[in-house]
Amino acid sequence: MESELQRTEKLQVVSEIAASVAHEIRNPMTSTRGFLQLLSHEGLTGEKRNEFIRIAITELDRAELIINDYLSLAKPQAEEITEIPLRSTLSHILNILSPYATINNVKLKIDLEGEASVVGNSARFNQSLINLVKNAIEACKEQGEVKLLLKAKDELASIQIIDNGVGMEEEQVSRIGTAFYSTKEKGTGLGLMVCYRVIDAMGGKIKVKSERNKGTAFTITLPNVTYHQKKPIQELPEF
Ligand code: ADP
Ligand code: MG
Repeated sequence: MESELQRTEKLQVVSEIAASVAHEIRNPMTSTRGFLQLLSHEGLTGEKRNEFIRIAITELDRAELIINDYLSLAKPQAEEITEIPLRSTLSHILNILSPYATINNVKLKIDLEGEASVVGNSARFNQSLINLVKNAIEACKEQGEVKLLLKAKDELASIQIIDNGVGMEEEQVSRIGTAFYSTKEKGTGLGLMVCYRVIDAMGGKIKVKSERNKGTAFTITLPNVTYHQKKPIQELPEF
C-alpha cells in the first residue's frame, strides 16, 4: 500500500510536471493561433494558405503527443494492481510494435528464457515497455535490429531491450528520463520519465549501457513473484 507521504510526494511531482507540460503546450498553441490569424488575411495565395494550414496541424499534433505522453503518467485511473506474467506480456508488446518496426526497416527479435511474473499496474507496465521498444526502433539506422529478452532467474526477472542503433554519449545517458529531454525532432522527452516512474513504483530498477554508434541496452530488473510464491517450506518459522 502507498503511504500518505508517498502519495503526497507523487502529487507534488505530478503537479510540477503539469506546470512544465502546460508551458510546453503553450508554444504550439501560440504558433497555431498565429497561423490561423494569418489565414484570415486577404490576398493570400493558395500555396501560402496550404502551408499555414499544414504548419498549424503539425503544431496541434505536437501538443497532442505531449498530452498523450503526460496522461499516461498522470491519469487518475483506478490503480489496479495485478500479477503480470512476463512471457505473454513481451509477446504482446512484440505484436503491437511489429508494424512500427517494419515501417522503420528494423528486425524485431524475441528470446524468452523461463517464466516470471511481476506485480504492478499492467496498463502502465505495458506503456513503459512500449516506450522502451519504440525508442530502440527509433534509434536504429540501416540493418537495424532490436532484441527483446527475458531471463527469469530465481527471485529476479530481467527484461532487456537491446538495439544496434545510434547509441548515446555518457552525458546523454545522464539526462535521459528527465522531463522533456529529447534529441528527436518530434520527441516529447516524456517516454523514459514515465518508464522510470513506473518501474520504480514496482520495486524495480533500470540500467542503461550505451555506446555511440554501437547501440544501447536497457535492462529492467524486477522481483519475480512466481519464485517468491514457491519459496521452500523450510522457510516457515520454527516452533
Ligand atoms: P522521446 O523518445 O520523445 O525523445 P524519451 O524520453 O523516450 O523521449 O527519450 C529521451 C531521449 O533519450 C531520446 O530523445 C534519445 O535521445 C534518448 N534515447 C532513448 N532511448 C534511446 C536508445 N535506445 N538509443 C539511443 N538514444 C536513446
Ligand atoms: Mg520515446
